[in-house]
Amino acid sequence: MPTPREGELLVHNVYLSLDPTMRTWINELPSYFSPVAIGEVMRGSAIGVIEQSRNAKFPEGTLVLGLLGWQDYALTDGTGLRVLPKDPSIPLTAYFGLFGIVGMTAYFGLLDIGKPRAGETLVVSAAAGAVGSIAGQIGKIKGCRVVGIAGSDEKCHWIEDELGFDTAINYRAEPVLESLNKHCPDGIDVHFENVGGAILDAVLSLINLHARIVLCGLISIYNASESEPGPYNLPHIMQIIIKRARAEGFLVLDYMDRAREAMQDLRQWYAQGKLRYRVDIVDGLQNAPRALNKLFDGSNKGKLIVKV
Ligand code: NDP
Repeated sequence: MPTPREGELLVHNVYLSLDPTMRTWINELPSYFSPVAIGEVMRGSAIGVIEQSRNAKFPEGTLVLGLLGWQDYALTDGTGLRVLPKDPSIPLTAYFGLFGIVGMTAYFGLLDIGKPRAGETLVVSAAAGAVGSIAGQIGKIKGCRVVGIAGSDEKCHWIEDELGFDTAINYRAEPVLESLNKHCPDGIDVHFENVGGAILDAVLSLINLHARIVLCGLISIYNASESEPGPYNLPHIMQIIIKRARAEGFLVLDYMDRAREAMQDLRQWYAQGKLRYRVDIVDGLQNAPRALNKLFDGSNKGKLIVKV
């Protein structure tokens, strides 16, 4: 067990967030973070309690969230740590989801890049996942007709019956293009893309004039062992030109200085009962590698978290 030196603190991790992007951190490809080197502690966002402190800014007993890694204890100088309030009305795990990176991703991705207007049709992929489920609900708050695409009947029922999506399409059980055609009779104005591949391709063929395609994530390729030749379907990609659409990528990291704005709205909507979320908690740090795969086989039901 390391002992903190002057300015350092020892954090006892309690919860570890598992996120699809972790898969990209262990590839040797240029990205927004350098790859995790072999032998290094796996990078990961965690919530912990400060057990020992030699840093006056962080008293012992404080709850913190930051890139504390896949480990029981983290030694840090506090850089980048967020101090969490001790508010019994908000479960700690919500700071990984609705009141954390996930909520901000859905909020800024949809509102800043997607710019939805009342009456428009919004399609969300990985719609029952952490980000997708919130993006779809914000779309409903903004008055859109919201169609979600998810990978099981249970997930489809959840987003329709409990979250208020207008329709859900089970991409494993029905032909996505045909179902989108049926459920988007007025075309697609905004698409919130978490998946890529065949789903993005089907959506492109139905976009309206000046559609906005929010490129949030492309989880279908994170685990691919060989790169796919692309683009996937040229006549569909041509629709971006023909419809003068905009496909724009974004990283939530660029929005950190606007966190307060998102949190204000998200808290208000949550208090008004307009936003719901669910978490999928796996017990034990030793199960984290196996649990990460849940994001890629779709067996996670909500924000995936490890109870360290
Ligand atoms: P989720 O909770 O949505 O879990 C991932 C889900 O993706 C799975 O449950 C599965 O749901 C679906 N999925 C996995 N593989 C495939 C596939 N091959 N085809 C179709 N669906 C698949 O994870 P998050 O909400 O944390 O992340 C969602 C997306 O948002 C990811 O792409 C992630 O990289 C991105 N992201 C982007 C950020 C940014 O700043 N741009 C920040 C945070 C997240 P199903 O059962 O429906 O198949």
